[in-house]
Amino acid sequence: MRLVGALWFWVMDRRGDRGWVEVITGPMFSGKSEELIRRITRYQIARVPVQTFKPLLDDRFATDKVVSHSSLSVAAEPVPDSDTLLRSVKERTEVVGIDEAQFFDDGLVSVVAQLAASGKKIIVAGLDLDFLGRPFEPIPTLMTHAEYLMKSLAVCHRCGGAGMYTQRVIASDELVVLGAEGAYEARCRSCFDPGESQQEQLEV
Ligand code: ADP
Ligand code: MG
Ligand code: ZN
Repeated sequence: MRLVGALWFWVMDRRGDRGWVEVITGPMFSGKSEELIRRITRYQIARVPVQTFKPLLDDRFATDKVVSHSSLSVAAEPVPDSDTLLRSVKERTEVVGIDEAQFFDDGLVSVVAQLAASGKKIIVAGLDLDFLGRPFEPIPTLMTHAEYLMKSLAVCHRCGGAGMYTQRVIASDELVVLGAEGAYEARCRSCFDPGESQQEQLEV
């Protein structure tokens, strides 16, 4: 009977129902990377096998680390796309962290679902809106497939209010302009003006 019980426990334990998806989202400076680093570090302390990934194009700080604006960091592997990410996850890894997930292709949605279905915990951090205030895929879709969601806010650089948007303060039409301080600000609902960066461009 005890053997049956042990076998039952083993089967239950292997069913993959320990897998889930956590999404941490919000504008720049809202503490997404900080929160991802906090959650990953907890698992590392408990000696749970962890792997953290970031898109290869994001080399603002260090290529082998996720670094927050407050200088916290955790080791990370840069990968060019979601396919490479999937192939880089080791069998024994139980927790997968992904930062700046808005820079990945849409394939990330099924990669994350696959990893969660195989029993891994996936913690994804990324922007939900682009610099024009439009949904920034694949984060919005990932949010609908997440067990746990956290939307964090920054302090509006202009008025100190609830910073929900990322305002580009330099002139550029490119969707991806890397960099933080100087190029972007967190802005609240009333201070956010998506036309601002284009207007500056016209005036130049
Ligand atoms: P994110 O990954 O969301 O861009 P980070 O985790 O890298 O954010 O950085 C969050 C940290 O940035 C805060 O703890 C704070 O020290 C700093 N910071 C700078 N500007 C702001 C702001 N306007 N609002 C909130 N935090 C800010
Ligand atoms: Mg970040
Ligand atoms: Zn404001």
